[in-house]
Amino acid sequence: MAARHTSPLQALLVDERFDGDIYAHEPMARHTTYRIGGPARFYVRAGSIGALTRLVDVCEKEGVPWVVVGRGSNLLVADEGFPGVVISLGRDFRSFRFDAERSCFVAGAGVLLSAVVQEAFRRSVAGLEFAVGTPGTIGGALRMNAGTRDEWIGSRVASVTTLRPGRGLERRAGSEITWGYRASSFALDEIVLECELSVEPSDPFYIRGKMEANLARRKKSQPLGEPSCGSVFRNPEGAHVAVLVEELGLKGATIGGARVSDVHANFIVNTGEATARDVRALISLIASKVHEAYGIELAPEVRFLGFN
Ligand SMILES: Cc1cc2nc3c(=O)[nH]c(=O)nc-3n(C[C@H](O)[C@H](O)[C@H](O)COP(=O)(O)OP(=O)(O)OC[C@H]3O[C@@H](n4cnc5c(N)ncnc54)[C@H](O)[C@@H]3O)c2cc1C
Repeated sequence: MAARHTSPLQALLVDERFDGDIYAHEPMARHTTYRIGGPARFYVRAGSIGALTRLVDVCEKEGVPWVVVGRGSNLLVADEGFPGVVISLGRDFRSFRFDAERSCFVAGAGVLLSAVVQEAFRRSVAGLEFAVGTPGTIGGALRMNAGTRDEWIGSRVASVTTLRPGRGLERRAGSEITWGYRASSFALDEIVLECELSVEPSDPFYIRGKMEANLARRKKSQPLGEPSCGSVFRNPEGAHVAVLVEELGLKGATIGGARVSDVHANFIVNTGEATARDVRALISLIASKVHEAYGIELAPEVRFLGFN
């Protein structure tokens, strides 16, 4: 029986029939590639659509903030943490298969993008070479429209299934979503559950060549051995943030444990003890210097969680 002062959210989370793993006061530093971030009030790995639906419905009803995350490879979480529910997509969202007839991968949103890319390589199907080495999940990739400046995942989405609290499941063609540079038109409260990614049969040597070239470029130009969130800012029209930052002599600039990477000036790395406050301060410093010098308003690519 539920305790007298238990909220509907707590009642749901202690219900033994609830299909998910629940962690109270879970440090988000464990769930971000930055290895930065204070505690989430609850971190819940939802195992099924039923559990996910119940969870977001209760949060909505109770006015508890919630967010769905993938691998946290594009996230900066505040040192104070997140006062609501951080949801990760578990078991039922973590499988994928290849549909040979339709020449597409059908992938759950919790699947790692790298797993699908690897399978594309194994099957000699082309279309995802641009994504080689991009961390994160399918859900995060679709939300962020992950890719390069010229190629992105949105152009490969044949269909996508999403969930919105109070509205239920919706399946749309990829062409019904507007895809832009590191942007998609999903509603703020829309959760990506599954998608179909189109690929085409190709020459294995061509695929291998493209993937190896992309990986080599990445290894050479990115600080892969240090915790980061990838590029911090979107590149503005006609310019590269890394070049602007370098021109301003900000490569290597440091605040606390956060440092503008010596390898790629649009990366801020955690040198070991960085706080979210350090990273934010460095982001603000770069943005204001770039604005002062070039009149350009930089837009962050990294997503912020738990900041006021
Ligand atoms: C070393 C490094 C290199 C990188 N290189 C690239 C690159 O080349 N190209 C590129 O585009 N990005 C790059 N990134 C950034 C990052 O990997 C991508 O943005 C990635 O797609 C984020 O996926 P994720 O699962 O980690 O999402 P998270 O970081 O967990 O979340 C990102 C956003 O997506 C939302 N989200 C996550 N899952 C869902 C879901 N199921 N439904 C709805 N919303 C969801 C979150 O709420 C958040 O707003 C790089 C990052 C690192 C650390």
